[in-house]
Amino acid sequence: MKPFQELLLQTDFSRNDLLSLLAAEGDDRQQLFQRAKSVKLQNIGNKVYFRGLIEFSNICAKDCLYCGIRKSNEKVVRYEASDDEILEACRFAWQNRFGSVVLQSGELSSPTFVKRVDALLRKIKNLSDNELGITLSCGEQTAETYRQWFESGAHRYLLRIESSNPELYRKIHPENDFHNFGRRLQALKDLKSCGYQVGTGVMIGLPFQTTEDLANDLLFLKQMDVDMVGMGPYIEHEDTPLYTFRNDLKTKQQRFDMALKMVAALRLLMPDINIAAATALQAIDPAGREKALTIGANILMPNLTPCDYRKEYQLYEDKPCLDEDAELCRNCLEARIELTGCEIGYGEWGDSKHFMKKK
Ligand code: SAH
Repeated sequence: MKPFQELLLQTDFSRNDLLSLLAAEGDDRQQLFQRAKSVKLQNIGNKVYFRGLIEFSNICAKDCLYCGIRKSNEKVVRYEASDDEILEACRFAWQNRFGSVVLQSGELSSPTFVKRVDALLRKIKNLSDNELGITLSCGEQTAETYRQWFESGAHRYLLRIESSNPELYRKIHPENDFHNFGRRLQALKDLKSCGYQVGTGVMIGLPFQTTEDLANDLLFLKQMDVDMVGMGPYIEHEDTPLYTFRNDLKTKQQRFDMALKMVAALRLLMPDINIAAATALQAIDPAGREKALTIGANILMPNLTPCDYRKEYQLYEDKPCLDEDAELCRNCLEARIELTGCEIGYGEWGDSKHFMKKK
């Protein structure tokens, strides 16, 4: 086997190399984090960009076996934030110079939903003099819908593949055409053709998932040539079918540690993409997102969802910031980021350097 030091200096990585990175413990692990940090600084600098996250509806037509807001979970009170509430959150983001917002929701594809998102995009652009960047995270849609939304002002899209292993994908979703790996993959390709900056990602520490799967996930991200990645630990939710397997899981701390190594390894593999410090990290470790920022991540998504709705957007247990309003969240974030030594990129879109270079 190669010395670990040598491995860290490579610019290209085989599956075995990635497996070694993901297996790193003790001193090796610290060196991996150090290296990821310096690769980040060299390639994209020290700035963290904010994306104000607005979870505008939890109404979902899908039944993903891991997700707390899956269609069959009848304990969830379904909501749809009003246009005024959404625009208010956007105005907050704009006035506080967040640069951009993410509109996320359950997955619907009715003409009413498609039209509503379209109208919202235009309104958000309007209220901010075209200044706010808008990322969408509204699941699989037709290429036509993606195109329409792009034309109305969205320029980035997040759609996690969840797992790049089709067999594992099948195990964590109901077996029907509506939850189809091939279709999700096609959606990612459609997004790319439309001209979006495309983000995807996976959950880390799923039942049945191996470290080989995770190394393959990293290779998948590279091969798809994505511009942005959001990935975080899987966290069980008691009102979901996957909860049955809770005793087979790694501990939360192990899943957290693996998620950090995934972020660091991905930074070595794709030096100039945007990587989010996933909210799920914070559900395990109060300083989880900051830890990710110090080792390779450069994007943070402060939650701007109106407080009353937050408890109904519980994708997993212990989701943080349920009771803080946006202002409080911002102050606490600023202080936290200062501690990481990163600088906040106020008022900038913070587009993926990787995407810009391709253009
Ligand atoms: N409906 C949109 C947004 C989904 S929610 C879509 O389909 O893309 C955003 C992400 O939360 C999901 O992609 C999934 O990766 C993550 N998520 C859902 N349940 C989770 C859980 N139990 N633990 C950790 N992450 C989870």
